Amino acid sequence: MRVFKFGGASVKDAKGVKNLASIVAKSEGNLVVVISAMGKMTNAFEFLIKKYFNKDESKWEEFALIKKFHNQILDDLFDNSDEIFNQIDSFYQRIEDRIERVPSLDFDFEYDQLVGYGELLSTNIVSAYLNKTGQKNIWKDIRFSLKTNDKWRDATVDWELSEFLIQKDFSFDEERLYVTQGFLGATVSDLTTTLGREGSDFSAAVLGRILGAERVEIWKDVPGILNADPQYFENPKKINSMSYREAVELTFFGAKVIHPKTIKPLENSNIPLHVRSFLKPEARGTIISDEKTSDKLKKLPVFILKTRQVLITISQPDFSFMDEESMSWVFGIFSDLSMKINLIQQSALNLSVSVDIPEHGVMELIERLSEQFETRYNDGLDLLTIRYYTPEAIEKEVSHRKVYVEQKSRTIARYLVKSKLKKG
Ligand code: ASP
Ligand code: MG
Repeated sequence: MRVFKFGGASVKDAKGVKNLASIVAKSEGNLVVVISAMGKMTNAFEFLIKKYFNKDESKWEEFALIKKFHNQILDDLFDNSDEIFNQIDSFYQRIEDRIERVPSLDFDFEYDQLVGYGELLSTNIVSAYLNKTGQKNIWKDIRFSLKTNDKWRDATVDWELSEFLIQKDFSFDEERLYVTQGFLGATVSDLTTTLGREGSDFSAAVLGRILGAERVEIWKDVPGILNADPQYFENPKKINSMSYREAVELTFFGAKVIHPKTIKPLENSNIPLHVRSFLKPEARGTIISDEKTSDKLKKLPVFILKTRQVLITISQPDFSFMDEESMSWVFGIFSDLSMKINLIQQSALNLSVSVDIPEHGVMELIERLSEQFETRYNDGLDLLTIRYYTPEAIEKEVSHRKVYVEQKSRTIARYLVKSKLKKG
């Protein structure tokens, strides 16, 4: 069996849904189709949730926009007499009931109870459309099968329980085709949880691993994994194949091709991951698999830009060394504030680290660190990573930029550079 994952961009309008249906029609064998919320609907739900949580009555306008968006797609795909209109209405009713209630004090909890309607709506629409056009399928509410802890917005999968339930619920006894939601799970007491933004890739990997898929296919609007993000670099080239290890490193350094958590479950069961284009379904895409089968011969340099970095430089006030004890205290502060460190450089007197600029700025961090150390910072930086670097690659991307920190290993060169992008 296989797992297909379709992201929001692939189902952003009726044309997208029809295209999905034609891709699914060409597939053979047992298939689970995992779908995200349509278009930018997760963002729209986030606006709605914030307003609801802040008791802002303009939440109704946000809700109206969400309904309008889905209704347009429904009108384009179905006849007025189709049953789907009632089903979608009952979802709207549930959302309405929810946002009429007084919210609890836990934003992350409220978030998870609402945001998942994006996926519930999209999968219902796609499932109904497939059925209507002759592709019989079973719609599954993944929350009954994929179980997690109750860490709202970043839930951890309960593998043992999920394995038991998923194998039972996705048995392929009656149909060859299931349609279900990415991004969502639920606690044992059936409260909805989410796996983190863009988490549907990971959902597909979880299903693939538990069902022993022969392959997981992620359908995107790019031809596969590129050696550079077209947003920041000229002439990106497609990579035909890469190893799990390379894929994990790329996502770790900031490449936004697939959700970072996706690779591990697949690597553990040696299931290939195919990243391919829903705009050009016949094209080859990129295959991520074990080292032996990945193409080692031609290693293209890979460029990854992680934007919005701040470099924090910490030193002892009295000219003493930055020893292990001081560093351990410093790292404790980062961990307390849940800040992920992207780069570390140490010298006799200084410790420099680069982190993503937090939503609320760096002042809290600087204040904490200043309790014991002299602390300086530079913002407006980007972290440029070049994998399989060559002198030409460095010349082209780095030579004209102001470099704050440089680190090189045998295969990877990393530079913290002044950003070319506008602040904000
Ligand atoms: N719809 C969710 C999001 O936009 C999950 C996903 O697309 O993977 O983050
Ligand atoms: Mg999405």
